[in-house]
Amino acid sequence: MHVKLQLVMCGDDGQEETITDIITLQKDSQHIEHLGLTLREAKQLLNTLQQHLLQRQVEGFLEASSTCLDCGTPLKAKGSHTRTFRTLFGTFKLTSPRLFLCPCQRRKTTTFRPMTSLLPESVAPELLLMHNFEVIVGKSTLAFTRDEDEETPSSKRFGFVQTVDTKSKRRLYEVLQSQGFQLNQQITFLSDGGDSVRDLQLDMSPEAEHILDWFHLTMRLTVLDQYAKGLVHGDQTLGEEIRDKIERLKWSLWHGNLSKAFYKIDDIESLIYNFEETYPKFKQLLKAVEEFRTYITNNRHLIPNYGERYRHGEAIATGFVEATVNQVVSKRFCKKQQMQWSKRGAHLLLQTRVKTLNRELESVFKRWYPDMQVGEVPDAA
Ligand SMILES: [Zn+2]
Repeated sequence: MHVKLQLVMCGDDGQEETITDIITLQKDSQHIEHLGLTLREAKQLLNTLQQHLLQRQVEGFLEASSTCLDCGTPLKAKGSHTRTFRTLFGTFKLTSPRLFLCPCQRRKTTTFRPMTSLLPESVAPELLLMHNFEVIVGKSTLAFTRDEDEETPSSKRFGFVQTVDTKSKRRLYEVLQSQGFQLNQQITFLSDGGDSVRDLQLDMSPEAEHILDWFHLTMRLTVLDQYAKGLVHGDQTLGEEIRDKIERLKWSLWHGNLSKAFYKIDDIESLIYNFEETYPKFKQLLKAVEEFRTYITNNRHLIPNYGERYRHGEAIATGFVEATVNQVVSKRFCKKQQMQWSKRGAHLLLQTRVKTLNRELESVFKRWYPDMQVGEVPDAA
């Protein structure tokens, strides 16, 4: 049988205005697998529906913004570009015209983009709400203090996971506050040094301390050493020398000695050129070394004397997160995607925490987006 789904758009008076075909399905009904919608059909349906709905909503919004608020004169277009809008049901391109302001009044600017006020950001709030889970996964926890006499914990630790959120700082801040975090409280941020995280960390809190997670740093060194092991097969002496330099590079970083570390990276780089003709993965290795240098350069202000911190019982890695994630995610999965485990693992870990976090986050989101409908999924009968 043929199933045709149409979208009927009505005006505010309820009058039918447009009818659009959304999807046409050819459905059989002889076997169990024919019954109902398939996942693919459902996705296509939602995506197409969303596309038409958004387009119509934007058209309505732009129409209302296309005349002068003061005198009603239609505004002339100066040009147009597109905006990307990410939603739960797909990412869409929306038209965003630039209009001339009406000359009937004196104004500070001559043109404006109406869409800027409709889309102050390019991610739908509901999608943001989901991504926020990734931010807090690392989870702020009470610091472990070795001083048993101390009655109240003096600090909180916060493991950090990347997010797509462009207003992460404010949001993270609100989430921390909703968890009882105080402005003057000692807080340590441990990050994996990803680009989007770095900016966010700085000036979060006057008392905040920002540290590159030792675990992530050594993970990158392990990658370098894997290549170096390959070099040993080509030239044992030189290969071992490079491995030794990588090991010493690690200890320079452990002591927070950056000038020594950079010196050793240069050393390693010039030594590996001996393998330019003989090592099949030379290009990848060179790239890995250069990326490591960039990584250290970009995060140099986040590299403390780890050794000293460790001796004082201070946090140097979000190992507590990793330990938990490893219980949730299979080892096989971790090995395959070593560099990505945290975000994905965090997401999985979160599924178990969503219920409690939901309540805190939803109330925060409700303040930002007063019309947003949250937590209204009805209970199963
Ligand atoms: Zn006017």
